[in-house]
Amino acid sequence: MPSPESQANPLAAPVTSVWGVGEERARLLARLEIFTVEDLLLHKPRRYEDRRKFLTIRELKLNEPATVRGQIIAAGRKNFRKGTRSMFECVLDDGTAHLYLRWWQAQPWMEDYYVTGREFLAFGKTDSLRPRTFEHPETEFIEPGDDEFIHVNRIVPIHPLTEGLNARAMRGLVWRALEKYGGAITEPFGVPPSGGPRAGEPPKGGTPNLPGRANAVRMIHFPEELTDVEFARQRLALDEFVELQIQIQSRRKKFEASAKALPCSGDNHLIKPFLAQLGFKLTTAQTKVLREIRADMGSAHPMRRLLQGDVGSGKTAVAACTALMALESGYNVALMAPTEILAEQHFRNFTRWLEPLGVKVEMQTGSKKTDENGGWKREDGKGARPSTLHPPSSIFIGTHALLTTGFTIPRLGLVIIDEQHKFGVAQREQFVRKGNYPHLLVMTATPIPRTLGLTLYGDLDLSTIDEMPAGRGVVKTFIRASDKLPKVWDFLRQKLAAGRQAYVVYPRVEENADGLKAVTKEFDTLKKNLTPFRVGLLHGRIKAADKEAVMADFHANRVNVLLATSLIEVGVDVANATVMLIENAEAFGLAQLHQLRGRIGRGAHESFCILISDVKKPDSLERLKVLEETTDGFRIAEADLKLRGPGELLGQQQSGLPRFRFGALVNDLWLVRQARDIAVSIVAAKD
Ligand code: ADP
Ligand code: MG
Repeated sequence: MPSPESQANPLAAPVTSVWGVGEERARLLARLEIFTVEDLLLHKPRRYEDRRKFLTIRELKLNEPATVRGQIIAAGRKNFRKGTRSMFECVLDDGTAHLYLRWWQAQPWMEDYYVTGREFLAFGKTDSLRPRTFEHPETEFIEPGDDEFIHVNRIVPIHPLTEGLNARAMRGLVWRALEKYGGAITEPFGVPPSGGPRAGEPPKGGTPNLPGRANAVRMIHFPEELTDVEFARQRLALDEFVELQIQIQSRRKKFEASAKALPCSGDNHLIKPFLAQLGFKLTTAQTKVLREIRADMGSAHPMRRLLQGDVGSGKTAVAACTALMALESGYNVALMAPTEILAEQHFRNFTRWLEPLGVKVEMQTGSKKTDENGGWKREDGKGARPSTLHPPSSIFIGTHALLTTGFTIPRLGLVIIDEQHKFGVAQREQFVRKGNYPHLLVMTATPIPRTLGLTLYGDLDLSTIDEMPAGRGVVKTFIRASDKLPKVWDFLRQKLAAGRQAYVVYPRVEENADGLKAVTKEFDTLKKNLTPFRVGLLHGRIKAADKEAVMADFHANRVNVLLATSLIEVGVDVANATVMLIENAEAFGLAQLHQLRGRIGRGAHESFCILISDVKKPDSLERLKVLEETTDGFRIAEADLKLRGPGELLGQQQSGLPRFRFGALVNDLWLVRQARDIAVSIVAAKD
């Protein structure tokens, strides 16, 4: 019985409704995550072959991939190494010359398939012209038949395949699916289709002249010209982005309709004395974002704002001022950090800053809380304090334990999430639901390329601190091979002797097979190497109390060198530390290295970031060189996105990122923008 969905949408029919797909093929297609007709229609080719005109075998050039067409004139298996290994070879003749096709592992089926007299296409690259040879080519048997026109004399798609399903068979299935169902492909969002000029580039303003969806689906498989492919991809990507943006915008609209804001813009009676004793003047950028925040905190809808600012741009001070607005208004505040070390540091700073103003600062991490009931109310009612909490109001600082424990914070007016990129999108939602729609400020130092920002944080407003506090020392970055380490250690000792401090970072806690350096293994060596200076050890498997002790020692310069994993990547703020030495630097992402580098250059002294790496591959080296060349977090993030893709850049956060078949976030900013505009008008029209 057809499901209701397939009645409404013929494309939702199971793939077995395409002629030629039985149980067996359906099983093969399922391996490619093709279950419905639509999945098959959207199965994106991995490359194309222009089979309108073939190169002759004689014309083949060394190392240039090409497709040739010819007849097999000899084929056979050859055994060697006393019959333990075998290879298969055939000779293809197109009348101009011979081409050897060679596979280094003979398969049993080859003898029955590559039969003398049969005609084949072969795609490959010659690494030798004497004789001309393709090693492990992709081949396609030209079977005479009605459907030959699908496979030759045109540009043909080569789809991702699975064992048991070859390119020709897959192409036939897609063709038949298009024949039968092409007419059922509709315009999903009423996006105006158009003929218009064909261009892969975004048009200057206005709706892009992209093909209609049905046309685009046809073109992505069977383009008339190769230039059509990108055009079709953009159209299909746009549809994906619109679908996602509609979800984002609807969520936002629903939220705005149902959530009433708590009045939290404050009256300055705490901020004034706070700023007076802070010891520095806020930068213009900090002041600007605070204005944006204050407007939100006093508006009809709860704030949903992302605060972006490069490492060291001073987000904590902005967080403190924001907290004070809510506190002034008589509401409590929660501040969440991704690590205990960072939560501790915030606790220390906020205690120092806010307690003189009469604000209570509380701590709650997995391993520690300041006060059993300190303002918290258990959801089960046990141990609840009488509801006399306000005033004065409190700020609660913690890790994700803030959301996993059974506590709720009464009169919660504001939630601040620091280093948001370390939390998943889902966690963010979970946390906000704890209160009665508190205002939300999320902060991140991972500068998010605009495309990702719009995609991941489309439901948040964006503020950016685009200026560094004045009076910072310069940070110099160097890449060095490990044979230069003795010199590097000398340099480090000099800086320590001058009273500065340093971080030394290795990628692993413990050694394993990958050969990367591990902190636990290097600790003793380092201590000896750096005597008389004191070395502290910090990594994720150390007990919380010990972590805290070593951080306190480092803050007080009782420990001069902190040996650590990338655990210190976020937040740690010690102005006297001026050297960051990272070994096996190639094992880290660029954004992560930039974060680590952000730990230095926080005081007036000149700082040095030294990346040790023995990578030889030009692209790995080039990647690291980006750091030598720039300290601009946005440029680094763009480079990381291009080099490693969004998953790597965002770490855990990728949980919030859908997989796109056609969308390529790296290049599709203009499409994401279009999609957002389209979605906004669609959602606004819906009621
Ligand atoms: P991040 O944005 O990376 O969280 P922090 O908030 O840790 O940066 O700030 C980095 C350092 O800069 C801190 O020591 C902080 O006290 C200092 N700072 C912040 N704002 C200013 C300012 N306007 N002028 C001078 N120093 C500042
Ligand atoms: Mg910070």
